[in-house]
Amino acid sequence: MLQNIFDTHSHYDDEAFDEDREELLTKVLPEGGVVRVVDCAVDLLTSVKVLDIAHEYDMVYAALGYHPEQAADERKGDLDVIAELLEKEEKAVAVGEIGLDYHWEDNAPRETQVDLFSRQLALSKDLGLPVIIHDRDAHGDTMECLQKYRPSGVLHCFSGSVEMMREATKLGIYIGLGGVVTFKNARKAVEVAAEVPLEYLVLETDAPYMAPTPFRGKRNNSTYIAYVAEKIAEVRGMEPQKLIDICNENGKRLFQMTD
Ligand SMILES: [Zn+2]
Repeated sequence: MLQNIFDTHSHYDDEAFDEDREELLTKVLPEGGVVRVVDCAVDLLTSVKVLDIAHEYDMVYAALGYHPEQAADERKGDLDVIAELLEKEEKAVAVGEIGLDYHWEDNAPRETQVDLFSRQLALSKDLGLPVIIHDRDAHGDTMECLQKYRPSGVLHCFSGSVEMMREATKLGIYIGLGGVVTFKNARKAVEVAAEVPLEYLVLETDAPYMAPTPFRGKRNNSTYIAYVAEKIAEVRGMEPQKLIDICNENGKRLFQMTD
């Protein structure tokens, strides 16, 4: 069985886990080889919830921030509270998840999203923390913001081309890959998996979403990263355990974890 799995992107605060969160985080994940998880907030309310979970479970770390799909809900002062929490809470390791989502028609206007993203990129620089970036159908503006602010961080669930991956890693940005690489129609993600410099690759679930084949459409959890690792290792012609070990070290470097 594969060991030493670091899930760099999850949402265990989601209600999909209300029934068995305790059992998952104390039993199922550790017994499935998972050693570390970063749980990502999407607004102020989830930031508080994610922190609670990080305090309760050793293996869980917190990313606090405002997701682009929540941009319209931002109230004055929300980011100040998030900034305070990021500053004082030891288990808060990143600003996330933040970014741009031009996929859904009913999301906030692009200018609103870019403004919120920009303020959080600036915040990450002030605090010396990495960012966890959500980029859906917004590659051009995302790269423009990264060029402008030069944060450290990761493009989660990376959906760009090999060329964009090269541009991002040149800026020192990590590439997060998850369940999508196992999907039948995942030509682009598989190309990126084959080409990404190994020192910039991290693994993730986005649980409860994005479960890999053969669990596609079901609730995801961090133990399923084994399937993602097997697929990427196969594409690269290496041992899955070796890949997981390298990605674990990458994740620790990305989130400035010393132990
Ligand atoms: Zn997410």
